[in-house]
Order: sequence, then structure tokens, then C-alpha cells
Amino acid sequence: MNFELDEEHRQIRETVANFAEGEIKPHSAQWDRTEHFPREVIEKIGELGFLGVSFPERFGGGGADSLAQALVVETLSRYDASVGLTCAAHMSLSSGHIANFASDQHRERYLPAMIAGRKLGAWCLTEPGSGSDAAAMRTRAVREGDRYAISGSKMFITNGSVADVYVVMAVTDGAKGKGGISAFIVERGTPGLSNGRKIEKLGLRASDTAEVRFDNVAVPAGNLIGKAGEGYAQTLKILEGGRIGIAGFAIGIARGAFEDAVAYARERKQFGRAIADLQAIQWMLADMATRIEASWMLLYRAASTKDQGKPFGRQAAMAKLYASETAMWTTIKAVQIHGGYGYVTDFPVERYMRDAKLAEIGEGTSEVQRMIIAKSLLKEGYLAG
Ligand SMILES: Cc1cc2nc3c(=O)[nH]c(=O)nc-3n(C[C@H](O)[C@H](O)[C@H](O)COP(=O)(O)OP(=O)(O)OC[C@H]3O[C@@H](n4cnc5c(N)ncnc54)[C@H](O)[C@@H]3O)c2cc1C
Repeated sequence: MNFELDEEHRQIRETVANFAEGEIKPHSAQWDRTEHFPREVIEKIGELGFLGVSFPERFGGGGADSLAQALVVETLSRYDASVGLTCAAHMSLSSGHIANFASDQHRERYLPAMIAGRKLGAWCLTEPGSGSDAAAMRTRAVREGDRYAISGSKMFITNGSVADVYVVMAVTDGAKGKGGISAFIVERGTPGLSNGRKIEKLGLRASDTAEVRFDNVAVPAGNLIGKAGEGYAQTLKILEGGRIGIAGFAIGIARGAFEDAVAYARERKQFGRAIADLQAIQWMLADMATRIEASWMLLYRAASTKDQGKPFGRQAAMAKLYASETAMWTTIKAVQIHGGYGYVTDFPVERYMRDAKLAEIGEGTSEVQRMIIAKSLLKEGYLAG
């Protein structure tokens, strides 16, 4: 067992960090304030190869492992969680769904442009009336000769109003429950595809979140991903992988909050000495660092289990659960260490705190992760090692 990152992974983290220091960090506060979606930066991230780091080389990817992709998301999120989430949804969800389950023809058609950042992806599962219980979706896809007509509405979709390629889950056979759900590729510009109202958010304000509407959207029958009825099983697999990404996203935010808190504690003087000399502050820093490190170990284990081709659902759920609660806890403590300055927008810690909350909600809430973990350990037994 090796707990250190190897040279290749260290290099990825360093290259992304250098890029983010120069091209993202100086603008993050303003993008958040003005809700500016930095499309140009996402394209650059694609040009540099970061969006495809773990995708097969034959589609223009880097051929690296899952840890590499998590490192990209983590490092971007350390500087700007909105950018991190945008890339995570693009890579793990939409591009990942096409890479894992679409035909070769579709992979060749979409992946090179998505990996290069020329086309942006969105993944449409959640609906106004169905979130945790995703199988209760109401969007329907009806076969009409050599095409499907999709009707319904999807809610809270990351990149929903800016994407070029949509992966959409819809019911094709209402009598079959989960086995009657299918996944489709829908391109921007297809008649009947539109966006609902702009969604204003607590955090991640520079990421795009939209309602996506389908009004009798006709797609060729060939746009079905895999076979009819396989959509729900595909979704569960994609979410398992996506949770490793969200763990990285959460760790990135927590790391930012921790580093800023340490720097502030060293500088801020009260009662004639740096607040870093106070045990109350030291204990918070110690707990932050310990939780971040534990989150890393869980992420590392989930990613390496996945890369060995073994079932990794429980590990991914544990990593996502622990990292997201760590991000929330750590950012709250970072605000506390900054005192009044933590509560105002002059320092980025209040933004970290607002951004962190999504990690406990998206791609399965903390309650859903606990359900997954409990179900797995009661069925298969436990322990690690
Ligand atoms: C910024 C943002 C980006 C998102 N991006 C995407 C995206 O790109 N694509 C997409 O498809 N979706 C996306 N989502 C949706 C997200 O995945 C859902 O919000 C999430 O799965 C929770 O669903 P819900 O909001 O309907 O909450 P609900 O499912 O209604 O849950 C409400 C509460 O009830 C709890 N609960 C529900 N069921 C149970 C249970 N059985 N046991 C215990 N507690 C339970 C939940 O944990 C939660 O606390 C995004 C959401 C946000 C906010």
C-alpha cells in the first residue's frame, strides 16, 4: 500500500493548480458575485487536456486512472468550486455515460469534442417531482417509427442552459418500473428542447443550473444509449463513479478553507499574539486536517477499487458522504477562525461555505449515501482491509 501520490498524479495536480492560480483564482469572487458562467475557461481546461484525463486515448483522452480525474476536480474546486462542479458534471456524468454505454459510433461522434472542451455536456435525471427517488420520473420517450418523442421536464441540471449534448433519462415502458427507463442523447438545437426559469442559488453561483424542458423532442431511435430499459442500471453505475468526483470536489473546497484558515490564523493577532497560538484555534485546525486526510484516504480507496474493476459502490458512497460532510464542517470552522472577516465577502471563506453545501445534496444526498452504505454492509458484511 502506498499513500503518496506518484509522479504522474503529482504532476497533474501541479499543472491544474498552476493553471487555476493564473486563470481562475483572480476572477472567482467576481464570477460568483455576477453569476458569470466562465465558458471560455472551461474550453481552455479542455484544450489543456484536463477534461479527458481519464478517457481513452483513442477519443483524445489521457488514458489515466480515476484518481487522475478526481485530482482534476479537486484542484479546480480548491480555487473555484463552480468550475469544479461544471467539469465534474461534464466528465463523470454526461461524457462518462457516453464513454461507458453508448455505441462506438456515438463515442466517436461526441467524445473527441467533449474531451477537447468544444462541446459541453449535461446529464438530466432529476425532475421537479423526483430527486432521491429518481425512478419516479415522469419524462416519457415514446417510440414512433424510427424515432423517439421525448416529453417532460428535468430540474437542477448542471450546464442545463449552456450544454451542447444532453444525456436524458426517460420512461419508455411505464409498466416495467426501473426496467422501463432508457437513456438518450439529445443535441442542443433539437426542436422542442428549451430551458425554464433561471435558477438562483445559495452557492456555486458561477455554475449553470437550469430546468430543461422537452416538448415532443424527436430524436432518432439510434440516439438510445444501449438498449431500451437499461437506462436506470446505467444511471446507478454513472452515479457511483460521479460520487468519487463529488468527493474530490468536496475535498478541494475543504482544502481551500483549511489553507486560508491557517494563513489567517498565523497573521491575525489578538491579545498580543497570533490566534494560531491559541489552543482553541489549533484544535479546529487539527480536526480540519484530520478530516481532510481521512476523506482523501476514502477517495483514494474508492478510486483504486474502481480501477481494479471491482464493485466500488459502497466505497464511493463512503468517500462522498465523509468528504462532503467534511467540506461543510471545515468551511464553517474556517469562517469561525476568520471571525467577522469570515462573514463578509472580502475573504473567500464565506463562498467556500455556501459552495460546500451542495456536496451534501448533489448526486445523492447524505441520507441516500447512508442508505447505500447500510444496505451494502448488511447484505455483504463488513469490514475494510
Ligand atoms: C446545484 C445543483 C446541481 C445539480 N445538478 C444535477 C445534474 O446535473 N443532473 C441531475 O440529474 N440532477 C442534478 N441535481 C439534483 C440533485 O441530484 C438532487 O437535488 C438530489 O438528488 C436530491 O433530490 P431532491 O432535491 O429532489 O431532494 P429530495 O429527494 O426531495 O429529498 C429531500 C430530503 O429528503 C431526504 N430523503 C429523500 N428520500 C429519503 C429516504 N428514502 N430516506 C431518508 N431521507 C430521504 C433527502 O436526503 C433530503 O434531505 C443538482 C442539484 C443542485 C442543487
